[in-house]
Amino acid sequence: MNSIVERLKEVRCQIQTACHQCNRSPDSVQLLAVSKTKPAAAIRQLYQAGQTAFGENYLQEALVKQQALTDLEAIEWHFIGPIQSNKTRDIATYFDWVQSIDRIKIARRLNEQRPPQLPPLNVLIQVNIDDEDSKSGVAPEQVAELARFIAELPQLNLRGLMTLPAAASSSAIQAESFANMQRLYSDLASQYSTVDTLSMGMSNDLAPAIAAGSTMVRVGTSLFGAREKLKEY
Ligand SMILES: *Cc1c(COP(=O)(O)O)cnc(C)c1O
Repeated sequence: MNSIVERLKEVRCQIQTACHQCNRSPDSVQLLAVSKTKPAAAIRQLYQAGQTAFGENYLQEALVKQQALTDLEAIEWHFIGPIQSNKTRDIATYFDWVQSIDRIKIARRLNEQRPPQLPPLNVLIQVNIDDEDSKSGVAPEQVAELARFIAELPQLNLRGLMTLPAAASSSAIQAESFANMQRLYSDLASQYSTVDTLSMGMSNDLAPAIAAGSTMVRVGTSLFGAREKLKEY
């Protein structure tokens, strides 16, 4: 049962190597452990090995695990799945970050429903960088408008952008999507001092994402092993 801890070391090592290869400091890239479909016990093991940030896609599943892990005081929960408006109250209450904001209505509800005694919710705008019908996220040209709206909301803290690129047909096409994200991100960071996070890269494309400036990689499979039920994101 130590293998999950071994895998954590390996992923950290991959991040370090990728950083060295492009002359970035290893601590400029955070690791988000994506624990969807995986049990609370596995999260606890990773936490005990020093991993604090976890990403979940499905609200009901996440709430059950959070209940089982309330003793892990420094744990940080990121919501990374598509958001239905009837789910915003629980998301605003039980998460520290929301990476999948893709419309004004959701931003407004999360702001209204974030409990006043909690710090502002950290949010990322999800960008549909490859213009895929099946994916959530705003088109690149809509980022500025949504960012302007979010920046005015007192209970949201605009931290940056997230993307889930298309399964790349070639590394050149993938590099182009990543480069487009990097440009959008630097534009945004130059306008908003709170923006410091580009969430990009997963188990299979961590190194090129880091080369293109990612500051947070979201890793599921390499840490927890393959997921049994493969759901659409
Ligand atoms: C599942 C998921 C991941 C993790 O993907 P892996 O390929 O298992 O590393 C990352 N980001 C999002 C938004 C996801 O839904």
